[in-house]
Amino acid sequence: RQLYGVKRWGLDYFGVGADGFVSVTVPTSSGQKTVSMQDVIAGLADRELSMPVMLRIENLISDRVVKLNEGFRDAISTSGYNGVYKSVFPIKVNQQKHVVDSIAAAGDPFQHGFEAGSKPELMVALATTPSPESLIVCNGYKDEEFLDLGLQARRLGYQIFFVIESLAELALIIRKAKKWNVEPLVGCRIKLSTKVDGHWADDSGDRSLFGLTARETIAAVDMLKQADMLKCLQMLHFHLGSQLTNIRNVRDGVREACRYYIGLVDVGAPMGYLDLGGGLAVDYDGTFSTQPYSRNYDLNEYCVDVVESVMNSMDQHQIPHPVLVSESGRWTVAPTSVLLFNVLSVTDFEPMPIESEADQEFCQPIGDLFDAMENLHVRRVQENFNDANYYRDQLRELFRSGRIQLRELAFGENLYLSILNRIAFEILPQLSRVPAELTSLHDQLADIYYGNFSVFQSLPDAWAIEQIFPTMPIHRLDEEPTRTAIIADLTCDCDGKLDRFTDEVGEPSRTLKLHPLKNDQPYYLGVFLVGAYQETLGDLHNLFGDTNVASISIDDDGKVQFVEEIHGDSISNVLSYVEYQPQELIQRFRSRAEAAFSQGSISATERQEMLRLYRESMQGYTYFEV
Ligand code: PLP
Repeated sequence: RQLYGVKRWGLDYFGVGADGFVSVTVPTSSGQKTVSMQDVIAGLADRELSMPVMLRIENLISDRVVKLNEGFRDAISTSGYNGVYKSVFPIKVNQQKHVVDSIAAAGDPFQHGFEAGSKPELMVALATTPSPESLIVCNGYKDEEFLDLGLQARRLGYQIFFVIESLAELALIIRKAKKWNVEPLVGCRIKLSTKVDGHWADDSGDRSLFGLTARETIAAVDMLKQADMLKCLQMLHFHLGSQLTNIRNVRDGVREACRYYIGLVDVGAPMGYLDLGGGLAVDYDGTFSTQPYSRNYDLNEYCVDVVESVMNSMDQHQIPHPVLVSESGRWTVAPTSVLLFNVLSVTDFEPMPIESEADQEFCQPIGDLFDAMENLHVRRVQENFNDANYYRDQLRELFRSGRIQLRELAFGENLYLSILNRIAFEILPQLSRVPAELTSLHDQLADIYYGNFSVFQSLPDAWAIEQIFPTMPIHRLDEEPTRTAIIADLTCDCDGKLDRFTDEVGEPSRTLKLHPLKNDQPYYLGVFLVGAYQETLGDLHNLFGDTNVASISIDDDGKVQFVEEIHGDSISNVLSYVEYQPQELIQRFRSRAEAAFSQGSISATERQEMLRLYRESMQGYTYFEV
């Protein structure tokens, strides 16, 4: 049985049940409960939530928040660290109200706060932060309105930190603070020289986009001193990058940041908070390695390394241990959402049966392809492959120059495909060493499964940064998958595909093992660990809009409860996003139908039927409706 490496990346949340469906195991107040995706699929159908669906699992949101806080709490208590830990969730990682509300609820006992990088995010944070002890950390560029709002909110008791990204911003903060007579909490974001491994390696170190250099940090101190506001400088902030694959980078970064922290204490800033930014990574490919979509550490090691590194650095200078803050977004929410979609059809690359050649006249390249087929042999496989390509190219040349017809080309192409299939499935398995050129032959012959979703809307990182997300069927897992496939989406775009996977043993693979479609039976696939960044970064390519969303919670009796259903964008919604007025479009179509009716080319009933279809489609789902 193919289990898609779920044990490696599934975090014990996802598994395979005896019913052949993916199972979901979550903590509840009466212990761990496991449900089958079969119940989820049935519940979606009952609610007429058609595929594709973004499935959110609420229990997992709370579990992640609890685990993160407990991870730091344990590391703090075992190491004897004298400070506390406060988490803040970066809203940009998943701004959906339900997610942010669930984080606030689960984070309440831990004084969990939020990180805001823009005015809208600040407004969400102000309205959602659970306790007055929770932090709101404001990163990014802040205009006057942003600062006014944040400063005024200080009066309400919010612990809002303005993390400064530039000296110009600090000048504005000082001016505004004086104007409103409010003492702001100020943090300095510093640019570390530590380089990190992984996808964002080039943007780390001296070339990182954000943060103050050592020169600018000292200039900031001088500006604050001059304004008699050095007492406001209480936080040191750094962010090494997202998805930090190598724990050694984390240690190096923390040690360097501590040097800045100590330096700021030395020049008279009160300090008190050390914000590590984000970066706590997710093992998307399940390899537990420094591959770009994995990491070579777990939560426990991360917390222990951070806590001990900070403690050692501070102790050497007899500086009180700061409050540790982290902005772990990806780690918190990635596992909490699964994209579910159905497969619409499959294209395979198997040859059709070859008709007898006896009574047919063929051009030379087809005769040569027949000979090449006869000559297939384990010891000549590279030569056989070269010959097949050579004669296929000759055949195409004859077609291009008009010397053979389409039917003959089709016959020859089918012959060529038969040769490749025999090489791939009969000859290569007999070889101990496959010639380099033939190693990707299986991939070239892989089926294309057409999925009812848009990569650009629901999995933008799969396209933009070639990120790997674990992908597998969510049922029929008690059957051996016999097909080898890639997945194409509904957008007619060459980039709209999933063709990067990790195989059963953790090796990269361009294809995925899938089951053959069965007549009239739906085939559902799931893409896992998609709760971070994907919904927000998604776009309207081909005008495929937001998918349906279902939030489920597994209750103490182990029953699936649908706690929220959001119907995805209608066609009318997405058209209005790109400035069309649906009513005007209906009007324009009506005029065309009226004209056709006046000319007698359609009847009154046909006209009405067309207008009804057009109007109804406006309210329909942008995806394929079964
Ligand atoms: N904090 C800052 C300043 C960031 O830029 C980011 C994202 O890159 C994060 C936190 C979240 O990082 P992650 O999702 O890796 O935890």
